[in-house]
Amino acid sequence: MKLQRPKGTNDILPSESYKWQFVEEKARLVFGGHQYQEIRTPLFEHYEVISRSVGDTTDIVSKEMYDFYDKGERHITLRPEGTAPVVRAFVENKLFAPEYQKPYKVYYAGAMFRYERMQKGRYRQFHQIGAEVFGSDNPATDVESMAMVMTYFEQLGIKNTSLHINTLGNTESRANYRKALIDFLMPHFEELSEDSKRRLHENPLRVLDSKDAKDKEVVKNAPSILDFLDEESSKHFETVKTMLEALEIPYVIDTNMVRGLDYYNHTIFELMATISGKELTVAAGGRYDKLVEYFGGPETSGFGFALGIERLLLLLEEEKVEIPNPNQVDVYVVSLGEAVNVETLKLVQSIRKQGFSAERDFLNRKAKAQFKTVDKLAAKLVITIGEGELEKAEANVKNADTREEKAYPLKELYRDFSVIYDDLIKG
Ligand code: ATP
Ligand code: MG
Repeated sequence: MKLQRPKGTNDILPSESYKWQFVEEKARLVFGGHQYQEIRTPLFEHYEVISRSVGDTTDIVSKEMYDFYDKGERHITLRPEGTAPVVRAFVENKLFAPEYQKPYKVYYAGAMFRYERMQKGRYRQFHQIGAEVFGSDNPATDVESMAMVMTYFEQLGIKNTSLHINTLGNTESRANYRKALIDFLMPHFEELSEDSKRRLHENPLRVLDSKDAKDKEVVKNAPSILDFLDEESSKHFETVKTMLEALEIPYVIDTNMVRGLDYYNHTIFELMATISGKELTVAAGGRYDKLVEYFGGPETSGFGFALGIERLLLLLEEEKVEIPNPNQVDVYVVSLGEAVNVETLKLVQSIRKQGFSAERDFLNRKAKAQFKTVDKLAAKLVITIGEGELEKAEANVKNADTREEKAYPLKELYRDFSVIYDDLIKG
């Protein structure tokens, strides 16, 4: 019997979950400020939604899918990425209709599933925050999206990232390049990894993206896509570069970058960072002008990206970014003796209803142990209530910081706690 979590999954415990909330909230703020709204799609999809759009020969589809047949014999897969489901939803819900603002901008945050080999920063259930824009082929959309990711990282306090960009051109440019690449790779066929031998005819661009050392050696001298761009493709890329420069965003052109998914064209990018001495991609995306049509929608261009939350948190640690722990409690009620159990319950509930965070002792511990908890929780105010106080219908309230202390009638605590709070905290 296996009573442990499945390989490649994590329990996100309270000692970590506040960090998740922090990065998610910051994303909502930054993306919201760029006029993106949240979309939530199912955790599972029909297999075909992912397979042909992401690409049958990609690692994701050929090796990493969590797919199965459900009780109705439907071929289902847990979602391995967010773009294909969002495009599916865009078409299915007719979000291209004229009543919706164009470009149409959405973001998502949630779990993705890939059957991967375990490594640092690589899991089987992992989490992404991503955004998609529909209906603009303006290169300013590409640049605004990349700039938004950069702003997000900056606002989190991350400094050392580098933006890598490339273009895959339009369909014609890519087809011409594909031919040239096959011609270049054929004489090296025997030197390639088994995966790349297979990729060579199915999807030769993916050989460029291989992580295999032998493949990397071969593709070092491969022709560059930049020499195969037609006028439209090269104009788009040039404009992207000019716009990045206008925003003073530094970038590196990496002509061997192709990304792991098939649906991209024109601009693609990766945001790289060094985690434990290893260069890792923390955010990645690009333009996909044919995907909406593939799902049966009208011709609509798209641009999107996703970032991995696990890797983002590793990076925050690496860069020693302090994440504020929001769990500081306003009030701790030191409750002394069985006789005040009910009064303590009522008091704590009342204080919470009045908008303050509060905690109390439940274990009938000695005063000393309870005051230790006050320190641990860094409570701002301490209310002490025992039998004596209960008889007089009052309680002692103390500012844990200044040690200033006063007795208040219980009635006042129940009626308007904020007066007492202000009295002792703001003096
Ligand atoms: P790689 O080449 O590293 O496998 P990918 O091309 O599969 O990356 P994308 O599908 O573009 O990655 O995903 C975007 C981001 O999601 C990655 O940059 C990374 O931060 C994160 N990510 C992808 N796969 C995983 C995983 N198995 N575990 C944790 N994070 C992941
Ligand atoms: Mg991958």
